[in-house]
Amino acid sequence: MLVEHGRRACRFGLVTKVRHLLRPLGLRLYAWKQDWLVFLVPALAKHHRLPLAGPALRWAATVYARTTYHTGSVVPYETARDLILQGERFAAAECACRKVWKHCDVAAMPPTCLYVGLAADTWVKFKRHGAREIDRVQALALLEYCRGEHLVHCLWTCTTPDVYAICNCCPVDCAGMQVRRAGIPEGSQPSPFISQTDPDLCDACGLCVEFCHTYPFGARILIDGRIAVDETRCVGCGVCREVCACDAITLRSRRAGVYSCRRPPGVV
Ligand code: SF4
Ligand code: SF4
Ligand code: SF4
Repeated sequence: MLVEHGRRACRFGLVTKVRHLLRPLGLRLYAWKQDWLVFLVPALAKHHRLPLAGPALRWAATVYARTTYHTGSVVPYETARDLILQGERFAAAECACRKVWKHCDVAAMPPTCLYVGLAADTWVKFKRHGAREIDRVQALALLEYCRGEHLVHCLWTCTTPDVYAICNCCPVDCAGMQVRRAGIPEGSQPSPFISQTDPDLCDACGLCVEFCHTYPFGARILIDGRIAVDETRCVGCGVCREVCACDAITLRSRRAGVYSCRRPPGVV
């Protein structure tokens, strides 16, 4: 049994090494074909319920996400900020999803994609979407700007579980969120949090409901002056918390229900 464990550890160790060796190639390929992928993947995902092609598409999407680790995860502002504080080398680039899908006005937005580490080097080297090197202070300023614009922060991984981008997404255009809405959850995972509202602080203005529905999550409803949250729809982005002038909204852990974080002060 011990030997078996040893063999397994050895095999998985080898797989991890191979993944890390392939990471530069994976990032280069993705940077090269980014526009093509952010168009094709959501376009195909919309057909995954077709009788014959649908199951094949569903299977391909699952295998792709599991073998390449190419998936997104929504995170609240604090997580994105902590990762910037831990990360090294940053690049800001224009949003590929908005450019391709055009629901949001990309011309009115500065670059909102934040690449880190090797991905930052790659996007700058290949001049993808106007990528330019920025320092940590500028990266934090970019995150703060996106927070103020009520964009949804999303971490992206590719080839290995390491984060290569901290994106600030328009959820209508984001390729990963489109894939999730089509019914394939591997496109974009929810954060480990869900929102909750303190009825004593809430003045029933409805702004959080409006945002949550304009962003097509639709998790909040206002009934008889009280907010209710559909936990199966809440992705834990925290945008409702940012728009609430009454500080009535907190994020709590999906699992234990013990974690709660109020809106923190700005970083920069
Ligand atoms: S993941 Fe988000 S920020 Fe990145 S390209 Fe797509 S919508 Fe834009
Ligand atoms: S934005 Fe705040 S005050 Fe307004 S309805 Fe939502 S929780 Fe209540
Ligand atoms: S209720 Fe809506 S806006 Fe608030 S965290 Fe959940 S998904 Fe995001």
